[in-house]
Amino acid sequence: MPNLNVNKAAFVKSAASHTQFIRSELPSIVFAGKSNVGKSSVINRLLNRKNFARVGASPGKTSHVNYFLIDEKLYFVDLPGYGYAKVSQSERERWAKLMEAFFSEAGNIDLGVMIVDARHKPTADDVTMAEWFKSSGRPYVVVANKLDKLKKSEVDANLSLIRQTLTLPEELLLIPFSAEKGMGRDMLLTEIMKML
Ligand code: GDP
Repeated sequence: MPNLNVNKAAFVKSAASHTQFIRSELPSIVFAGKSNVGKSSVINRLLNRKNFARVGASPGKTSHVNYFLIDEKLYFVDLPGYGYAKVSQSERERWAKLMEAFFSEAGNIDLGVMIVDARHKPTADDVTMAEWFKSSGRPYVVVANKLDKLKKSEVDANLSLIRQTLTLPEELLLIPFSAEKGMGRDMLLTEIMKML
């Protein structure tokens, strides 16, 4: 069984355009989600860090693709958050162009990690992002974050709504997760380790 020392993580670079994407033989684990869903918190939780990937950075201003090298074995690729209402039209278009470039390039994705809010029905933007992962032809998982904010009695219905709204195939892994409490971490790490 391969091992991964998640404590050995380094920020590599921030790509503002496709010319700066990292092309590497190492597996790329690609994280996407709307602004404020807790994407940085999920990454930090995976890496046992508090402030590694930024948390609470001004939403919408993170229109870069950020690369982190983990144990010199794989990359965590942090896609810019989407869906923040106050973003200008030009920023929105820049984001869309960057994402189109990213998803159109074979080799940018080995595993997709699509993060949604466990509390809410996925947004239209979430649906679009899930479609991009689907059409990438690469494996992906969906993480339902902020599960700690749900009552136990609400969990099943919310997970079903996410599955239904994103039209996830039955075999697709939907991981109940709490970046705050650590729930789901082992399951997500197991999927990531399969890429080694
Ligand atoms: P990002 O914009 O997607 O990177 O989101 P952040 O990681 O910055 O998190 C946005 C906010 O949600 C912060 O205030 C986090 O503390 C909070 N948050 C993130 N994950 C969780 C979680 O699992 N549970 C709870 N209760 N709050 C969370």
